[in-house]
Amino acid sequence: PHKMLDPANGPLIAVRLNILTRKTLGGLQTDLESRVLGSDGEPVQGLYAVGEAAGFGGGGVHGYAALEGTFLGGCIFSGRSAGRAAARSVG
Ligand SMILES: Cc1cc2nc3c(=O)[nH]c(=O)nc-3n(C[C@H](O)[C@H](O)[C@H](O)COP(=O)(O)OP(=O)(O)OC[C@H]3O[C@@H](n4cnc5c(N)ncnc54)[C@H](O)[C@@H]3O)c2cc1C
Repeated sequence: PHKMLDPANGPLIAVRLNILTRKTLGGLQTDLESRVLGSDGEPVQGLYAVGEAAGFGGGGVHGYAALEGTFLGGCIFSGRSAGRAAARSVG
């Protein structure tokens, strides 16, 4: 609401920012067992992705318009799916 550079409104204050990413909005494409899909759409053997690495709060389990606060659940759920699938794959 006032002129920033007017000395009468000083002093200016510098703030150091640390930038972090909060959501990936992308990531590795996975199936319902959290297996990473290759460019041919087939699972890459032995490769799983969960959480934000699978994109948008666990592979987008809540959809593209997911509400704030719904990411952690999807991340944990995709980790569970991957763990179960990995355990099954080794008998
Ligand atoms: C400020 C903020 C507020 C949020 N609030 C909410 C909320 O209220 N509700 C909600 O549902 N979601 C919230 N989220 C989103 C949610 O926290 C994330 O979606 C979730 O934590 C992602 O989990 P993740 O396991 O995929 O990744 P992360 O929690 O980021 O875990 C990745 C881990 O990998 C480790 N790592 C990275 N590189 C390497 C490496 N080379 N070797 C070994 N380890 C490595 C990192 O140190 C980290 O511990 C918030 C996120 C932020 C940033």
